[in-house]
Amino acid sequence: MRRDTPSSLPMNTTSPASAPPLLAAIEAGGTKYVCAVATDPARPLLEIRFPTGDPHETVAQAVAFFREASALHGPIHSLGIGTFGPARLDPGAPDYGNILTTPKEGWSHFPLVSELKKALGGDLPVAFETDVNAAALSEARYGAARGVRRVAYLTIGTGIGGGFLDDGRLLHGRMHPEIGHLIVPDLDAAYGKSTQVCPFHTSCLEGRASGPAIEARWGKPGHELPEDHPAWELEAAYLALGCLNLTAAWSPDLLVLGGGVSQKTGLIERVRAEFQRLAGGYWDLPPMEDYVKLPALDQQAGIVGSLLLAQEVLGS
Ligand code: ZN
Repeated sequence: MRRDTPSSLPMNTTSPASAPPLLAAIEAGGTKYVCAVATDPARPLLEIRFPTGDPHETVAQAVAFFREASALHGPIHSLGIGTFGPARLDPGAPDYGNILTTPKEGWSHFPLVSELKKALGGDLPVAFETDVNAAALSEARYGAARGVRRVAYLTIGTGIGGGFLDDGRLLHGRMHPEIGHLIVPDLDAAYGKSTQVCPFHTSCLEGRASGPAIEARWGKPGHELPEDHPAWELEAAYLALGCLNLTAAWSPDLLVLGGGVSQKTGLIERVRAEFQRLAGGYWDLPPMEDYVKLPALDQQAGIVGSLLLAQEVLGS
């Protein structure tokens, strides 16, 4: 797996007359929290990572970090949060800022934004998004989707999620997109298998093609399965179905496949080939290597995107 660091990001060459505002951000993942402060989103000044535990303890750890960072670098001007979902993102909703029903213990209906504001100041401008949307934003600004107008971003790891960017703007519906729960046909049967791990659906993309699905189906995590294992042919077939459905529903200029599973050597080439076979020549698309791509920022995408959200909420 590649581990690009912020040092690989482009330099900010502007020279502001006064000190730029200090931005704070949380990539609030289901397994780990990443907190950072920066004046330039591409170059965090301080960063901390810790496992996501009990929500009150986790928030207390984040707040302690921001207080320490503020003592070193001055007052925090805004906070960007990219959280695991589902979450209420609509500022007009009565439960805005809450995590919604989740199997993650203790987190269902936890008021994340209000708890953070209570600790950091009620007037602090806060941007609240999903972690995958935050990652999509940073790929569009600094990474694989730079300069591309319409981008669909998928992440395939512990779960499957994704976001859509239209001219730099994240798209929401009544909720945020839930690409992982696109319904797909059962391709397992052809392999003598019947694995699906989503507790809500009988055959959705996340249930069939997430990291836990691969492990449940083949008895080993994906990184232990060789590149020529049939697991990858099946995985590519499911992911190609997801990409095809997104193409049919929205017609992006680019699909970026992020997350740990996508990094498996040879997988993206299989996805492109299977996509082309399934598409049947119907769409007028760019060459496959320009249409379905790996991300450029990888491990940093979520936190850099959350810093971008903090910058956006200030209108800068
Ligand atoms: Zn599902």
